[in-house]
Amino acid sequence: MASAMTDLHRPAETPLHLFNSLTRSLEIFTPVHAGEARVYSCGPTVYNYPHIGNMRAYVFADTLGRTLRHKGYKLTHVINITDVGHLTDDADAGEDKLEKAAAEKAQSIWDIARHYTNAYWADIDALGITQPAHWSIATDYVPQMIEFAKQIADKHCYELPSGLYFDTSTVSDYGRLARHGTDEGESRIDPVDGKRHPADFAIWRKTPAGETRQMEWDSPWGKGAPGWHLECSVMSEALLGFPFDIHTGGIDHREIHHPNEIAQNQAHSCSPDSGARMWMHNNFLVERSGKMSKSSGEFLRLQLLIDKGYHPLAYRLMCLQAHYRSELEYSWDNLAAALTRLKRLVMAVMPLRDVTSATVEHPRLLDLLTKFDAAVSDDLNTAIALTLIEEAAAMKKVDTGEKRALIEAMDKVLGLQLFSITREELRLRPKAARISEADITSILDQRKAARANKDFAASDALRDQLIAAGVDVMDGDPLAWDWRPIL
Ligand code: AMP
Ligand code: ZN
Repeated sequence: MASAMTDLHRPAETPLHLFNSLTRSLEIFTPVHAGEARVYSCGPTVYNYPHIGNMRAYVFADTLGRTLRHKGYKLTHVINITDVGHLTDDADAGEDKLEKAAAEKAQSIWDIARHYTNAYWADIDALGITQPAHWSIATDYVPQMIEFAKQIADKHCYELPSGLYFDTSTVSDYGRLARHGTDEGESRIDPVDGKRHPADFAIWRKTPAGETRQMEWDSPWGKGAPGWHLECSVMSEALLGFPFDIHTGGIDHREIHHPNEIAQNQAHSCSPDSGARMWMHNNFLVERSGKMSKSSGEFLRLQLLIDKGYHPLAYRLMCLQAHYRSELEYSWDNLAAALTRLKRLVMAVMPLRDVTSATVEHPRLLDLLTKFDAAVSDDLNTAIALTLIEEAAAMKKVDTGEKRALIEAMDKVLGLQLFSITREELRLRPKAARISEADITSILDQRKAARANKDFAASDALRDQLIAAGVDVMDGDPLAWDWRPIL
């Protein structure tokens, strides 16, 4: 396989091993189409802002995509936007999350969807997540969803007054992905009256008589809206073909959403094929105070981190410090530590900014490259990859052009933008600061001049002026933070 790394004269290439949730084991990635990688990631439900836990799912999907590119595959990545069908209750009984938000805010559902989609895209940009080949919007695919449902209705579905339901007993091994029916799997009980099996799920939800929904379409089963799971089966096949390579999502999707997608895919393809060769799931970002939840009023969104002065890439680095399959605990201390680590890296590569890259030939650099490739090829071990990029940045007595090329290649996978973010951007800059940065710089300049003149009284007075404005002066700080806000 040709690879970005071969350009750098990399010696041996480790095969890419990824953890497949279907088999609960590491497998060597073998593409459906030679030289290509086709990946579908379940996107956000746009009824509210994404929280930083949701964004962990896309940092993971982006790391996967970057790794596949690094291994030389031509990547086609799809992320969908769920603007219809996702209910407040996974058991098909609640309201549509978007209809509910629109009613509460007395706004058009389309405006709500647009607003929160834009907010999500802003977070995608801020975190340096690569734009996928397609953003597929669920409401653009409703005719195809109805067509898909028509094709499976006779053999696999039954109608109830509330809608069309999928009979999970009609496909082989339903729930295998979730390990339903074992100690490991969660069992679920669905409260909709008349369901044949607790796990049966809605393919089409009829608008109840006498009600009008803002989003509803005509169908052979009456006016209504598609069930949530349908969109991903339909859009992944439309944009990536059947089967495709990798389907990603958060670990919660392993239990209900993805088993249901698989059941639909099996029904539609008249085969036991799950639709994707590999199903990959990121573990959760957890936060003890419970502020993560979108439904709990105030919650942790990326903008809150930015408002408190943190560069969003510090959050990206914080995610990369943990393995994507491990739970990651959020705390402000962890974020501050990640910011410092990012700053150290940016400072270490600063002397290479104006250096032209050269082919990597030095054995010590090649060795680091091999180790880096092995780390990311080991089910995306970014925690190790980070220590290797740090080792590369600290490398002395090597050609600077080679060193730059090596770090650039590594950063292409990690996405930390080490050669473009500035030291100043990484400074904690809380929105609520009482003094502007321009004023701080100007006072610091005056203070430097006073010290040069040995006017220590003036220098101390200027320092006190900054302290009074909430700014701590950090003389001689090894990381060259000249000042920091007093929090
Ligand atoms: P949603 O908008 O709820 O459909 O979720 C978008 C994505 O975020 C899905 O892949 C979820 O599985 C994932 N997700 C939800 N909560 C978390 C969390 N706390 N940590 C990591 N991923 C999450
Ligand atoms: Zn999905």
